[in-house]
Amino acid sequence: MKNSLSTAEVESYTQPFLDFITGNPTVFHAVDTVARRLESHGFTKLLSREQWKNKIKKGGKYFVERNGSSIIAFAVGRNYECGNGAAVIAAHIDALTTKVKPIPTKPTKAGYVQLGIAPYAGALNKTWWDRDLGIGGKVLVKDRSTGKIQTKLVKLDHPIARIPTLAPHFGAPAYDPHPNPETQMVPIIGLDRSGAQDTDALSDMSSLGTGLLQGDSLFASTQPPRLVNAITKKLKIDDSATTASDIINWELEVFDTQPAQLGGLDKEFIFAPRIDDKLCSYAAIEALIASTSDTSTQDNSQPSDDDKIIKVVGCFDDEEIGSLLRQGARSNFLPSTIERTVAALAGGQGSPDLVSQTFANGFMISADVSHAVNPNYLDVYLEKHAPQLNVGVAVQADPNGHTTTNSVSTAFLQRVAEKCDSKLQVFQIRNDSRSGGTVGPMLSSAMGMRAIDAGLPQLSMHSIRATVGNLDPGLGVKLFKGFFDHFEEVDAEFT
Ligand SMILES: [Zn+2]
Repeated sequence: MKNSLSTAEVESYTQPFLDFITGNPTVFHAVDTVARRLESHGFTKLLSREQWKNKIKKGGKYFVERNGSSIIAFAVGRNYECGNGAAVIAAHIDALTTKVKPIPTKPTKAGYVQLGIAPYAGALNKTWWDRDLGIGGKVLVKDRSTGKIQTKLVKLDHPIARIPTLAPHFGAPAYDPHPNPETQMVPIIGLDRSGAQDTDALSDMSSLGTGLLQGDSLFASTQPPRLVNAITKKLKIDDSATTASDIINWELEVFDTQPAQLGGLDKEFIFAPRIDDKLCSYAAIEALIASTSDTSTQDNSQPSDDDKIIKVVGCFDDEEIGSLLRQGARSNFLPSTIERTVAALAGGQGSPDLVSQTFANGFMISADVSHAVNPNYLDVYLEKHAPQLNVGVAVQADPNGHTTTNSVSTAFLQRVAEKCDSKLQVFQIRNDSRSGGTVGPMLSSAMGMRAIDAGLPQLSMHSIRATVGNLDPGLGVKLFKGFFDHFEEVDAEFT
């Protein structure tokens, strides 16, 4: 359905977005939830290990995951012809977080149990102090009967960890602008009164990591016993046979547990963790679903729309650390997914020529959050380039190639915005500041695809909690859906 979203439809995305943020604190939970949402709207899961030749059809909707932390979804128009373009939205679904160390067990210090964690990208900054932190992530469990390794997601439901600030009464150390992230930002996760107070904790290091769980696997014995117990107990909810010795490894994150919620006098704000960039990921996925489903029926098994193109959304892991891992945007994940799709649709007769034609006929929105104007620091923003909340997506310009935006791609998206009744804002950083990067340049250069950088504006980027407008999730869906809906007409103006 190619209608523009009404105000009520825009608003209807607010609460589901809050639920998405609160319910999916780790990148693994977020990707899993996106996959289940796609499945419920008629998207079929493809496996990278299998041939796609007879699996992809015109009118079909599909998704493929990598590492459980990146996901690409796409829908092939019913009137697709070989060589036609792909309309792509690329976002990143990872967020600043802290990761539990391989062997996180710490000696009990002054009666506290502590946990070894490491910052992912710029996390563990001062906004992480005195927050209620939870623990969750991906656990590899060996199935005793089959011997197969299964991945299970786990999150403990209550705040477990806390990085305590030092009261100002202690003077200089409390005001240190650069606390040591290895020694002064170690979360406490419990009390231990079992032994004598350990005043020389480091001397006790050699006793750690062995013999703590007698008879259990090597992995579990390297982890804090009470954490192992808590995770095992949680896993037993859906599998009563799981014991600590069945856990062969895990990737756990420590995250903000405070729910995403509405704020402001008339609830015009969203205060939430992990906005960057689950916000544009959420909006892009919902836009793909809305553009390729007939929302007037409850039948979600219906085929894709009758367009002539492939509509694609990629939500990538690892953007915050440079994207150069197999599930990152700098990998072959997106180009190879499009190549395999084009080949499958050509009956296995795909060629480099056909793939390059698809890229050349395509257009990509690199959708990452932008900076909303902060009223207390107006002078750090460039005049007329300072986006506001609840207005719409901001085009991100940068003269030095940190984004993909140029005159043609701006004009292209402006035409899309006109057709779907959306407003575009513009952001550029001042000459005396430093522009951040996105997945746009790496992906558009890998595919030779025209591209623009455009995302929703937020306050407090890289803080543990950020602010956007209550309408911003829906305004993102509105523009991105318009991009998919009107791609063919707008592209025809540019050929
Ligand atoms: Zn970002």
